Amino acid sequence: MKNWIQQEYENIQSSPLKRNLIKIDKNTTETTINGKKKVLAASNNYLGLATDIRVIQKAKEAIEQYGTGSGGSRLTTGNLPIHGKLEHELAQFKGEDACLLFSSGFLANMGVISSLSDHETIIFSDALNHASIIDACRLSKAKIVIYKHNDMEDLKTKLTQYQTHKKKIIVTDGVFSMDGDLAPLDKLSFLKKKYDALLIVDDAHATGVIGEKGRGSANYFHVDVDVTVGTLSKALGSEGGFVCANKKTIEFLVQKARPFIFQTALAPASVAAALMGLHIIQTEPERQKRLLELGMFIRKSLTKMGYHVPDGITPIIPIIIGDAKEAVDFQQKLDENDIFIPAIRPPTVPDNTSRLRCTLMATHTDEHIDTIIYAFKRLNPPSKGSGNFHF
Ligand code: PMP
Repeated sequence: MKNWIQQEYENIQSSPLKRNLIKIDKNTTETTINGKKKVLAASNNYLGLATDIRVIQKAKEAIEQYGTGSGGSRLTTGNLPIHGKLEHELAQFKGEDACLLFSSGFLANMGVISSLSDHETIIFSDALNHASIIDACRLSKAKIVIYKHNDMEDLKTKLTQYQTHKKKIIVTDGVFSMDGDLAPLDKLSFLKKKYDALLIVDDAHATGVIGEKGRGSANYFHVDVDVTVGTLSKALGSEGGFVCANKKTIEFLVQKARPFIFQTALAPASVAAALMGLHIIQTEPERQKRLLELGMFIRKSLTKMGYHVPDGITPIIPIIIGDAKEAVDFQQKLDENDIFIPAIRPPTVPDNTSRLRCTLMATHTDEHIDTIIYAFKRLNPPSKGSGNFHF
């Protein structure tokens, strides 16, 4: 007789939504995927720093100096001088007092949200927040109130409903990972002050990408937020997560955040790579400029051709198809044109909003961009508007 794992596994195997692993050589603009050469327009290595020779060199030097692993948690034997250095530089970059590193952005959200909330807290969370925020909310003992995506009227109504509640947190992605749109931090900042709530922003896709010299979404909107969560794994070209906030909040997290306390400190190579990545972001702003220009160009070109692409400014460009199978078929057609852009389907995105998620890199050449544009030109927009997605 089949046990429940076998049964559920078989259900997944036969589902059109089954996820498959691809084999990729590395996250460069041209790479090999499942044995075939492709132009890659799907990486979070936005500035090309994960494969930058200077970043690689710093990682190598750190391994030689400190070894491959940090050997303990930060509170035991893992606290190397470069951890503190990176925290100091990230805090300065984000214009905050202090910073704390985590092993990943996912765990940074887990650590922050679970430690800053308790059973007396209400968390107001955007409906399209990243999975790590959703899971962190579930892990927290707080009451969770979901507001409609970027809908400030809905949020206001919900905040009013709980106006007298003492502990309130609003949490949002700064740049939404599957839609590439921005959270309206100007309005969120106003509401958080009016209703005396704490504002947490996950800037995973904004750091290095928007704001002055890539400082992120709060900088872009010229507002202050209470807590910024970030990752080292995207524009910074490394791996790991971080949280920036005032000194007291960071000290509180050192005492309370379980993913910080009980996890081995970030590997020296990752820290050194991120330090170099951060340096390059600040000294070579032309990378960010090119990334944003390429994003705008692709958005405009695809829209002109009749593709369903929302307005926006980020290099995350969703091409909305609607039906999951049609999205996969379109991915296949792009694949035949030697371009890799993955279809994103439920449950990652809501039903009927399956899409191709195109992301650009500052290191894409004009020729790469032409290749992408011509492929979309050759292929027609599939049954326009089959999705029920509204922008
Ligand atoms: N937040 C957002 C919005 C993300 O897109 C991601 C990664 N996809 C994370 C957090 C998690 O970051 P990391 O990969 O460093 O765990």
